[in-house]
Amino acid sequence: MARYAYVNGRYVDHREASVHIEDRGYQLADGVYEVVGVRGGKLIDEVPHIDRLDRSLRELRIDWPVSRNTLGFIIRELMRRNRLHDGLVYMQVTRGVARRDHAFPTTPVKPALVLTTKNTKHIVADAGAGVAVKSQPDIRWGRCDIKTVALLPNVLAKQAARESGAYEAWLVDSKGCVTEGASTNAWIVTGEGELVTRQTDSGILAGITRLKLKSICDSLQLKLVERPFTLAEAKKAKEAFITSATSFVTPVVKIDGDAVGDGKVGNTARRLREEYVRFSETGEAVT
Ligand code: PMP
Repeated sequence: MARYAYVNGRYVDHREASVHIEDRGYQLADGVYEVVGVRGGKLIDEVPHIDRLDRSLRELRIDWPVSRNTLGFIIRELMRRNRLHDGLVYMQVTRGVARRDHAFPTTPVKPALVLTTKNTKHIVADAGAGVAVKSQPDIRWGRCDIKTVALLPNVLAKQAARESGAYEAWLVDSKGCVTEGASTNAWIVTGEGELVTRQTDSGILAGITRLKLKSICDSLQLKLVERPFTLAEAKKAKEAFITSATSFVTPVVKIDGDAVGDGKVGNTARRLREEYVRFSETGEAVT
């Protein structure tokens, strides 16, 4: 079956899809992106994802490449062509193609829009067993709230984690606090059963899965505190887990080689994962 990508107005064969060599995303990482999960043929939390795309674009003063309605249409058309049932839609907007110069182009250029889809059925199915994470220094810039394609520190941290046999890197700031994962938000459950995840500000990305999980915690009457937590606190926690559109809610059972709690998937993480999966399938959170 042919696999399509969407590139600046056209649905093209994925193998031949390409952008101009002077696309500012390619040369300067001058662009933003979104990843939206798809479950049972339906987009998960589409509106908050597109709202976040809008915010990222505004923060970088990049125009919308098409209207919001049109983007919704393109997403669905690509899903239809690729028969995407369970997986992800990736969308990227860059400032466009212009002669290379750090400053914005002085003549108007059209922002570039690219979309791809990925089938990830298997990831959702087996992530419940728990994963290991490895700490890495958070060496990113001061605007981690913007979802830019400038991901080199995240790439290097994730690679270091993978080379040590861990699934994800947990980024640690100069105060010893875990900010977030390389591509996930980080959570712990304390000995008192309180959930802790870092507050959202310019230091982390405000995850859409994180946001949904906050409302699920509310419905389950779980106590959640948004504050910084140290790596040492995480290592002593009862449970830990990560959230993202790709990994849903994935329990963390090891940090830097040390077992979290009893080293098994905890009840809170398991329950939250189940509730999130239910939400992704039915559009409803806690019933
Ligand atoms: N933090 C970072 C750095 C990420 O790249 C992601 C994935 N987009 C997340 C957190 C989780 O965000 P979301 O739940 O919206 O996927």
